[in-house]
Amino acid sequence: MKTSIIKKMKEQGFKITPQRAAIIEVLADETLHHPGANDIYRQARKKTKRLGLSTVYATLNELCRLGIIKMLEFDKKENRYEGNINPHINLICKNCNRILDYNLPVSIDPKEFLKKSRFWVTDTRLEYYGYCRECRKK
Ligand SMILES: [Zn+2]
Repeated sequence: MKTSIIKKMKEQGFKITPQRAAIIEVLADETLHHPGANDIYRQARKKTKRLGLSTVYATLNELCRLGIIKMLEFDKKENRYEGNINPHINLICKNCNRILDYNLPVSIDPKEFLKKSRFWVTDTRLEYYGYCRECRKK
C-alpha cells in the first residue's frame, strides 16, 4: 500500500519529504486500523521529529482531494483516514473504535452498474457496526 501511495503522489508532482514519508508509513500500517489525524501525528512524530500537526492535516487533505486516500467522517467521532481505496466493507467496532477492512466477496463492475441503474457511482462507503473479536472475548 505504501509504494502505491508514493507512486500516485509522485505522479501528481508531490515531493516525498521525510515528513510526508512518515505520514504515509503510518497510513499504510494496517495494525493502526484507520487512524485519525492525531494518531497519525503521534505515530509519525516517532519517525521524524520535525513535524507539525498542521503539516499532517495539510498532507491528509491534499491526499484526500486527489483521491489517493479516503477520509471517513463520523458524527460523534474524530475523522479517520484510510489508504485502501479499493471497494471494501469497513467493520467498525463500537467498543474500541477499531476499523477493520473486509474485502467484498463479489466485485461490482462500475460500467455494468451504470448501464443497469443509470446511476453514476463516484464514491462508496460500506460500514458494518458491531464488536471485534478482541472485544467479544471480554
Ligand atoms: Zn473492538
